[in-house]
Formats: sequence, C-alpha cells, structure tokens
Amino acid sequence: MRVAVVLFTRDLRVDDHPALVAAAEAADAVLPLFVEDDGIRATRYGGAPGRRAFLEQALADLDRSLRELGGGLVLRRGDVVAETVRLAREVGAEAVYASADVSPYSRRREDRLARELDLRLVNGHFVVPPGEVTPGGGDHYQVFSAYHRAWQQVPMGDPLPPPARLRLPDGVAPTPPPSPGTGAGAFTGGERAGRARAARWLDEHLDGYGAGGHDDLGGDVTSRLSPYLHFGCVSARALAVEADGRAGDAFVRQLCWRDFYAQLLWANPHTQVDDLRSRGDRWLDDPESLAAWREGMTGYPLVDAGMRQLRAEGWMHNRARMVVASFLTKHLGIDWRAGARVFFDLLLDGDVAQNVGNWQWVAGTGVDTRPNRVFNPTAQLRKLDPEGAYVRRYVPELADVSAREIAEPGLLAPSYPTPIVEHAEAIAAFRARRARAT
Ligand SMILES: Cc1cc2nc3c(=O)[nH]c(=O)nc-3n(C[C@H](O)[C@H](O)[C@H](O)COP(=O)(O)OP(=O)(O)OC[C@H]3O[C@@H](n4cnc5c(N)ncnc54)[C@H](O)[C@@H]3O)c2cc1C
Repeated sequence: MRVAVVLFTRDLRVDDHPALVAAAEAADAVLPLFVEDDGIRATRYGGAPGRRAFLEQALADLDRSLRELGGGLVLRRGDVVAETVRLAREVGAEAVYASADVSPYSRRREDRLARELDLRLVNGHFVVPPGEVTPGGGDHYQVFSAYHRAWQQVPMGDPLPPPARLRLPDGVAPTPPPSPGTGAGAFTGGERAGRARAARWLDEHLDGYGAGGHDDLGGDVTSRLSPYLHFGCVSARALAVEADGRAGDAFVRQLCWRDFYAQLLWANPHTQVDDLRSRGDRWLDDPESLAAWREGMTGYPLVDAGMRQLRAEGWMHNRARMVVASFLTKHLGIDWRAGARVFFDLLLDGDVAQNVGNWQWVAGTGVDTRPNRVFNPTAQLRKLDPEGAYVRRYVPELADVSAREIAEPGLLAPSYPTPIVEHAEAIAAFRARRARAT
C-alpha cells in the first residue's frame, strides 16, 4: 500500500487544497497531520488568546471535514520536523505533501524536512505563488502596479474539490477531536465559518466594495476574511476566482496585494526585521508615547478608535491600520518594528509577510513610492468617518460627542485625553529628521 502524509500548517481546509489532492492521487492511504509547533507556541505569537481559540476552532472543523471524507486529523505536539519525520517513518510514507510558505521560519522548516524525507511542496496559500511572475532583469517585483499587471496575466486555474474519499493508513486512528476554546472575539475559526462569511459578504458587499466600501471606515464593510486567509480556512485562489467571476476587480486587487507582499518577503527574508530601503532613520526612544498609542490614548480619535478596535476584536480596518501606523512612525517618530510587534501580538490575521510589508510601506522604508507621505488623522477622519460612527463605536468617552467636535482634537470631552502631539509640529519635526538623514 502506498502511503503519503499531508502536513497541514496554516492551510486548514479541505476545499481547493492542492497538497491534499496530490497526496490522495499519489497514494492509497493518506495521513493528515497537524503538529502544534513548540517553537511557535513558545513565542508571543503562539500565546495570543484569540489566535489560539481561532486555531483550535479551525482544527476541530478540519478534523470534522476529514472524518466526513473517511479520514480524520492526527494531532501531535513538539518540533514539527521531528514529529513529521517520526510519523512518516512509522507509517512507511513515500512522501510528505505540504503547502509552500514564505516566512523565514517556515522556509527553514521546509529545508529541514526536505533533508530528511521526500517533501513535495505545492502552492496552497496564494493565488499566484512567489516566483511565478518575475520582472525582466530581476527576480521579484518591488512596484505593485507592475506586479499587478503581470499577476493578472496568470491564469488562476480551477479551484480543486476535496478528494472524493480518504483512507487512513492501517493502524492509524485520528486523534480525538480537539475541544475548541472560545474567545476568538468577533470571529469563529474554521473552514465552514470562513466559507459562510465569504458567501454572505460576496452577495451583500462585493458590488459596493470598489465604489468606496473599501475605505469607508464608518460603514466598516470590508470582508473581514483576513484571519481565514491567514489560517487558510478559505482558499485565496477560490476566493479570487469567485470574485473575478462577479466583476469584483477591486477586491481581487487586494488579494493581489497579499501575493505581492508574500513574494517580497520570500525574495527579501531579511526584511522581516531590516528596512527594505533604509532612510537612515534614527527612531525616537519614547516609551510613554508608545504606551499611549498602544492603549488608544493619543487624543486623536481615529488613532484611538483603531487601536481600541484592535484590542477589542483582534482585528482592525485597513484604513485605520494605515493611519495608526503612520501616526506611530511619523508623528511620534517611533520605529515601525515596535508597532509591528504590537500588531503581531494582537491581530488574529497577524502574518509576517503582510505585517512587515505593510508597516514598511507606511514607514516609508518599504515599497511605497512616496516614503515621506503622512496620513493626517483628522483629515482622514473627516473624509472616511464623517459622521463619527467608527470613532463612537470604539471610544466610549466620545459616544455622545457630535461629529463636528470629534473632528476637532483638543475640543473634546474632559474624560478624553488631550492630543499627545500637535499635528503640524510633529510633522515638521518628522520632515526635518528625514531631511537630515537622507
Ligand atoms: C500597518 C499594517 C499592518 C497590516 N498587517 C496585516 C497582517 O498582519 N495580516 C494581514 O492579513 N493583513 C495585514 N494588513 C493588511 C490589511 O489591513 C488587512 O489584510 C485587511 O484590513 C483585512 O481586512 P479584510 O479581510 O476585511 O480586507 P478586505 O478589504 O476585505 O480585502 C480582502 C483581502 O485582501 C487582502 N488585503 C487587503 N488589503 C491588503 C493589504 N494592504 N496588504 C495585503 N493584503 C491585503 C487581505 O488578505 C484581505 O483579507 C496590514 C495593513 C497595515 C496598513
């Protein structure tokens, strides 16, 4: 009997899962494996409570789907490589199938596995995997518009249905299903929840997304699929195919951004911690301002609403992410790495490639063609949350304050902090620092 292992990592679904399909085609029996990684568990990332609950819910859901197909999930805990190698040898597996990933940590894991056994890596995370489109004369893109044009030329292919039937290797029983924790906030982990959210959102909001829905902070009507995409509960490719078929160009473009940042980190692994394009910044050491930012107590309503949404929901609207990141790096002059760490601690969708790519874009050390761009938190508020609905939702001190007053920092309720910096002065200081540095 030919046996294969499918090593699940953050591709926790059965639909459009190329590694699962390839294993089922190549072997008579398939062992679906998830190893809870001690290396990740030990980090701050692994400890975040909402993320843990989301992961457990996703694993329980995956196990259920695999059982319905005749299999079930085998769970182990420890070092992913050691556990996978041990199990693969125990069942006499000819190969291990997995979805190729981009972070330095996962690539080291893949290298170690490939040294020990026959590792078959396939694309399960991206619409277009890193390296598939490359610019003439270079190995990867650093300009989004050029990448987007090339990306659009690649056929997406047809999403794959799950294998009709799975069979576990003789003598292997699935692990009793994990009892999922609670506390993933406004989200429920898993493929079923992800697919239901996607179907509902595409029906209700895809049409309005391109016509302003994407940036409408007050409406807050983006898909909120990012945690499901990060954990692979929803296939990015299947989602792109579905949206593309409904003329959802603006939404598909955002999925292209996701692939863009993935190929950027894949080609520049050092940018997990280093600037892609250093501007010679000398960041300020200012723990008090960093704490005020982290707690949502800066006195700028939009910044505070964003940071409080993050703490309350483990998620933040994209436009608010841009504004809070710009405020930290440009108004406060604090290193983007400090902000990225806070995001990574709290975001359910916390993802190395997306987080550092976006933080560096905002800080001006990455791929933004206007590195000194500043988001004015008050102008953004007037434009994207004119009624103050977003702010009032997350900042209770301002619940009874009019939209006009919310948009005048400094004139606010006595229980709300006065601004920790003055906008014009802070920006002048930032520009002076950048001018000296470059
Ligand atoms: C400073 C900063 C840090 C960020 N950190 C992360 C992170 O750790 N993980 C993460 O998934 N996203 C991150 N983003 C990108 C973006 O904010 C989120 O993906 C988006 O807000 C998720 O909401 P949504 O699913 O409703 O998005 P939608 O607007 O519904 O978009 C659909 C999908 O497209 C992708 N997408 C949308 N915007 C972006 C973008 N700017 N960059 C890359 N992909 C995008 C996401 O996968 C998203 O789920 C960050 C953005 C900023 C400015």
